[in-house]
Amino acid sequence: MDYQELIEEVYHEVNKLELKGKVADYIPELAKVNPDQFGIALVDLEGKVYGVGDYKTPFSIQSISKVHTLTMVFHVFNSKLWTRVNVEPSGNPFNSIAQLEFEKGIPRNPFINAGALVIADALTSKFEDPKTQIINFINDISGDKCVSINEEVRISELKHSERNIAMAYFLKAYDNFDNDVQEVLETYVSQCAIEMSCVDLAKSFSFLANDGYSIFAKRNIVTESNARRINALMLTCGFYDESGEFAYRVGLPGKSGVGGGVGAVMPHKFSVAVWSPELNEKGNSVKSIKALELLTDKLKFSLF
Ligand code: GLU
Repeated sequence: MDYQELIEEVYHEVNKLELKGKVADYIPELAKVNPDQFGIALVDLEGKVYGVGDYKTPFSIQSISKVHTLTMVFHVFNSKLWTRVNVEPSGNPFNSIAQLEFEKGIPRNPFINAGALVIADALTSKFEDPKTQIINFINDISGDKCVSINEEVRISELKHSERNIAMAYFLKAYDNFDNDVQEVLETYVSQCAIEMSCVDLAKSFSFLANDGYSIFAKRNIVTESNARRINALMLTCGFYDESGEFAYRVGLPGKSGVGGGVGAVMPHKFSVAVWSPELNEKGNSVKSIKALELLTDKLKFSLF
């Protein structure tokens, strides 16, 4: 299979469809991004990179960082932390608070904001400087010093964090939050403000296509069985209340972010990242999802 030819075909076909959406604006700084940008990068198991369009342009990875932070504490979760976060699809928007009350302060999964805040809390308990640890970790698994934090995006989100702050206090009320809310929020907002290109993002997901081993870091990042579990979580919970639709249309484990990016993996074959800022009403990138749908259609395989 010629991956370069494949992603170029996908890229041109998606562009011809002239799909439209809306750039996220609830974080004001994100609204300033040029909506026409679109890139795809695919990395095979030997580390060979294939790219098209704006695949080298850094963008705000937002919620995709929740995969990286979950990975950092996954072994802890294996023993104890799964009592703090569930592994069920939420069927609700990423920033929903309502469900937390019904579930008695245990978020439905680690990829909705409430769950990611619990993970950020766990990272805050584990590391003195969690922000630096997150950056170092992602640089390591991408094999490059590719990560930067966009200060404007970080500050912009920090100023508009009412919902996330409310959620953190709600978790605290249920005794599911150990650290100072503001401190954890700083970590969470910093991880969301990370900028990376499609190529670096695809590299950082490579270990999930490779049974937990990163060819870039040259080490096992998680065990083979934990890599399968992270992939299962991405498949069932990676696209907010559109996770079923993504599994149906694309059939790959993946994670989206409101910056318009998607990272996905085809286990034992490749990792892939797509970016285009315009989102549908569920907060997922219109073009990125279409591109991945065409990709698996043309490949004639997905997970299924
Ligand atoms: N930083 C965003 C928030 O907490 C992340 C949302 C996302 O990408 O889903 O609202």
